[in-house]
Amino acid sequence: MSRTCTICAHPDREAIDAALVAGDGFASIAREHAISEDAVARHRAGHLPARMARTPKAAEVAHADDLLAQVRALRSKAMSILLAAERQGDLRTALAGIREARACLELLLEVEGEIDRRPVVNILVSDEWLGVRSALLDALQSHPDARSAVAASLLRLEGTQRVG
Ligand SMILES: [Zn+2]
Repeated sequence: MSRTCTICAHPDREAIDAALVAGDGFASIAREHAISEDAVARHRAGHLPARMARTPKAAEVAHADDLLAQVRALRSKAMSILLAAERQGDLRTALAGIREARACLELLLEVEGEIDRRPVVNILVSDEWLGVRSALLDALQSHPDARSAVAASLLRLEGTQRVG
């Protein structure tokens, strides 16, 4: 390539490359970094190293992001179910929410297990999960029966002997 690539020389090159790897559209990347869409396309086709676009490492990063996004979605869902259930004193709904949350986490763990030996997020020690966990138990403070059922579920899920 005879011309200097404005993106290779761009101070935001890493962010631009990351956005390309994440599959963001050329137009939105161009807008965000005040560069031309043609330059983005040219850089993507000719310069972004193939290893960054397609290797296990890039897939792994994307996957870890997916997992975190799912855990965040799970947290929001668990929180809204709990708030609604608490407002209505509806423990059946609260417990259904817990079961659903647990099923989601188990699925996440299975997915994580597929990525053997790679440094992915450990859901059960993530801040996201610890936040959900303590919020669940706090919210159920005034509903001892539900709280023990939840605590038992957490124990089974986490395979530990203690629960907060
Ligand atoms: Zn370039």
